[in-house]
Amino acid sequence: MTEFETRAIHIAQEPDELTGAVMPPIHLASTHRQDAVGVHRNGYEYSRVANPTRDALQEALASLEGGKYGFSFASGIAAEDTVIRAVLKPGDHVVLANELYGGTFRLFNKVYREWGIEFDLADLNDEDALRSAIRPGQTKLVWIETPSNPKLTVFDISLTSKVAHEYGALTVVDNTFCSPYLQRPLELGADIVVHSTTKYLGGHSDILGGAVVVSDSDLAEKFRYLHYALGAVSSPFDSWLTHRSLKTLAVRMDRHQSNAAAIADFLVAHPGVAEVYYPGLASHPQHELASRQMHGFGGMVSLRFAGNENGSDAGTREAIRFVQATRLFALAESLGGVESLVNHPATMTHSSAVGTPIEVTGDIVRLSVGLEGISDLLADLKQALES
Ligand SMILES: *Cc1c(COP(=O)(O)O)cnc(C)c1O
Repeated sequence: MTEFETRAIHIAQEPDELTGAVMPPIHLASTHRQDAVGVHRNGYEYSRVANPTRDALQEALASLEGGKYGFSFASGIAAEDTVIRAVLKPGDHVVLANELYGGTFRLFNKVYREWGIEFDLADLNDEDALRSAIRPGQTKLVWIETPSNPKLTVFDISLTSKVAHEYGALTVVDNTFCSPYLQRPLELGADIVVHSTTKYLGGHSDILGGAVVVSDSDLAEKFRYLHYALGAVSSPFDSWLTHRSLKTLAVRMDRHQSNAAAIADFLVAHPGVAEVYYPGLASHPQHELASRQMHGFGGMVSLRFAGNENGSDAGTREAIRFVQATRLFALAESLGGVESLVNHPATMTHSSAVGTPIEVTGDIVRLSVGLEGISDLLADLKQALES
C-alpha cells in the first residue's frame, strides 16, 4: 500500500476475524483478562496503557504522517502538553513562531512559565531572528505552526529544522491546518508532529482529540511512557470515530481547498475587503514556499476589514458585524469540519492572547471553509458583506 488514500482506508483496518465485518469493532473494555500472572494477551492489560481501537488509529496516523510511531490523545492541547513534558525540564528554553494558536501560547505563557520553562517568540521566516532567539545549550525546542493561526503565514519547516538542529534543539510542527494529506513535516526534517485531530482529521465537528507522531525511537519511548503515565489518552469511541474519518480525509481536503480557493478569489475582488490571507494566492508573501512545502493550500481563509488605521475601530466593528451576518457560515470556535464556520479570533480563539505579542487585531475574521456547494457559500459571504 503506497498511496496515501489507500493507506488512509486500509491501515490497521483488517476485517474482523470473527465475523468479517469490514469495519473493526470498538474495544470498550477497560481491562483484559490475563492468561497467567504477567502474561498479557497480545500485550493488552489495561486500557490507559494500550487499547486495540486506539492502537489501530495510532498505526494509521503514523503511516499517513510518514512517521514510525503515533500516539493519540484526548485533545490537541493534551498532545502538546505531553510533548512539552517529554522534551523539556525546568530551566530549558523554547523558541515559538511569532504567530500561533492562542491555546498553545497560553500553555507556555501561563502554565509552563510557572514551571520554569522559558520562551521567546521569533519570526521564523527571518533566519537571523531565529538564530538570535536561540540560546545555545539552553534552547531545546523550536515550535512551528504552519500555516499559522489565524493569518496563514507559512514558515519554512526545512530551514527552521536545519537551524534548530545546528544548536541541538528539536523542532515540533503543529500540522493541524494542513493534515498529513497536505503537509508531512517529518519528511521535511522536523522531529515531532502534533495535531488537534478535533479539526480536519476528525473532520465532522464531533470529536475532541490530539495526536503526536515521531520517527525517532528514543523520543517514541518517552511518549509511550508519558502517554500512560499522564493518561491523557483518547477514548475508544473517539479513537474509532477519528480512524473512520481518516478514510475520507483526502477527498474532504480536496473539496475544502477548491472551495477555499474560490472564496479567496471572490474576497480579493470584493471592494469591502481590505486584505485576504490565503497561501494559494500569488500575492501571499510565502506563496512560493507554500507551493514547495505543501501539497495544496488548505481550507482556511482569513480576511481583514479596512478602517482601523488612524486609531479608529471601524474595521473591528465591521468584522463583528460581518461574523453575525453570515447564515451558512456558523459563528463558532474550531475549524476543519464539513460545515463552514466563521470566527472572530480577537474575541474567540485568540482571546487569551489579548495584551500579548501574539494578539490578533479585531479587524481580522477567519473562515473555515466547509464542503457545501460553492455557489451557496459565495452567496452567503456576498449577502453578509453587502447587508
Ligand atoms: C484547536 C487547535 C489546537 C488545540 O487542540 P484541541 O483539540 O482544541 O485541544 C492546537 N493547535 C491548533 C492549530 C489548533 O487549531
